[in-house]
Amino acid sequence: MKTFTGIPASAGLAIGKAFVYHYDETPDIPRYNITEDETAAEWERLQKAVAQAEAEVRSLHERACREMSREQADIFQTHLMMLEDIDFLDQIRDRLEKNLQNIEWVVSDLTREVSQKLMASPDPVFRERAVDIADVSSRVINSLLHVARSRFSLAGLEEDVILAAHDLMPSEALVMDKSHVKGLVMDMGSRTSHTAILARAFNIPAVLGLSVISREVKDGQTLMLNGSSGIVVVDPNRETLVREKTGEKKYRRRTDRLAALRDLPAETKDGRRVTLKANIEFPEEAERALDYGAEGIGLYRSEFLYMMPRKAAEEEVQYEAYSRVLKAMGKLPVTIRTVDIGGDKVIPELLTVSEKNPLLGWRAIRFSLAHPDLFKLQLRAILRSGVHGNVRIMFPMISGVEEMEQALALLDEARRECKKKKQPFAGTIEAGAMIEIPSAAMTADILAEKSDFFSLGTNDLVQYSLAVDRGNEKVNYLSEFRHPAVLRFLKRTIDAAHEKGIKAAICGELAGDPSATAILVGLGLDELSMTASSIPPVKQIIRGLSFEDCKVLAGKALQARSIAEVRAVMETDSQ
Ligand code: PEP
Ligand code: MG
Repeated sequence: MKTFTGIPASAGLAIGKAFVYHYDETPDIPRYNITEDETAAEWERLQKAVAQAEAEVRSLHERACREMSREQADIFQTHLMMLEDIDFLDQIRDRLEKNLQNIEWVVSDLTREVSQKLMASPDPVFRERAVDIADVSSRVINSLLHVARSRFSLAGLEEDVILAAHDLMPSEALVMDKSHVKGLVMDMGSRTSHTAILARAFNIPAVLGLSVISREVKDGQTLMLNGSSGIVVVDPNRETLVREKTGEKKYRRRTDRLAALRDLPAETKDGRRVTLKANIEFPEEAERALDYGAEGIGLYRSEFLYMMPRKAAEEEVQYEAYSRVLKAMGKLPVTIRTVDIGGDKVIPELLTVSEKNPLLGWRAIRFSLAHPDLFKLQLRAILRSGVHGNVRIMFPMISGVEEMEQALALLDEARRECKKKKQPFAGTIEAGAMIEIPSAAMTADILAEKSDFFSLGTNDLVQYSLAVDRGNEKVNYLSEFRHPAVLRFLKRTIDAAHEKGIKAAICGELAGDPSATAILVGLGLDELSMTASSIPPVKQIIRGLSFEDCKVLAGKALQARSIAEVRAVMETDSQ
């Protein structure tokens, strides 16, 4: 038995057989010259690799027909057709004979050229084709290189497993067969990384940032993970299993007890009311949010819609998804965040450039403003969905007032377009700025003049103010909301909002952290938006607090000079 401690990222206990996922997205492709005599042997190798790829795709297709949507099954059908495409195979053969280079290099070189041409097309169908070609070709190359697993093995899991990986991109987490993934452990990642956010949305217990787990555990070994404590045990003994299962039962009983708070207000003993809302990534989560007593959706991360296979940016698909959430929420407000692509949320169909520093790169509002047609398509879908309920809109990663003004101008254009097309839409909707870059927090007073509300994205605000990559477990220890700089950014933003008469919310993971509740209430936040299951415990804490005491606590914390001093202030307060 071996025990590891990582970052608790999604609550719950999971016990099962490990499936170790090794996926090297960019295996090094060897490049060497061959002689004319060797071309026949290289061609033979390719034939075998294509046959193997065909067998893999055929079995995935059969499975998809049984268990997945028609759309997903069609993807594999397209891949099969590509593997049998005589023209493409002829081009490979020509190049092999002309260039006299090893076959994996020829395939990868030709694929890159074809993909780049397709990617440059304004037509999304062609861009999607580029992704398919890259996928098929990587399957063939992997088989030439004997790389055992590929990305789709996660969609093709045959039995229940605990997934152990070095890292998992959110797009990979999306395609995995959720019904078979009972738990997730990873070397990389933190509580605020997007894979953690997805694990919570899927209700899959997860422990991240374990550094070495993907090397320490072998396929088929028994793994136990506790997503609340961050403990992971390989081959647990009976005593450990009994202890963890008892703990889990207690946790469930407490959760059931808290469900009784559902219809009670989140109000301090001296009458300060705080609005508690839920963050969602998928429309289906809206109903669950209501079960936990959410008073609205404070953050709908719309980019996950774009990440679903084949959903790319169709106005009607978006309109349907947003409408579904609005209908489910009735009169309660739903804040849809415009697409936050980039960073770790790469969408190959849309983001074709590779960047050295993606977290400082072409993400979120920057991407949307650079693609006004795509952006307005989303804005129209949101405006139109507004007829079904109380919709609000917010823009991610605003760095200054120019971006806010440009986004609002495009929102106006989108309104005019709806009018011209005679499509019903919500005439007046609130538009807010996400405050997640230090420059936005510093100029919150200016931004408040252009915003109907603020929502603090503390995952990114902490990342950018402390220069700590939120997905990198090595620097996770530096990711601290108790840093005086972060507290000052929060205070400055909240005060600027209140001076202009608008509300300030937090929609980063900090909102659902019970250890932060008192200080956040004391800083004057009007709204906290979090993973739905965190609402009941946070509400219970708020109902036990005094607003006056919270203000004193926040005042003392703001005077503190270091993380340690803030910690000490908070600890003294909770005694
Ligand atoms: C944040 O940065 O706090 C936030 C809510 O947005 P995301 O986690 O999607 O970047
Ligand atoms: Mg963010």
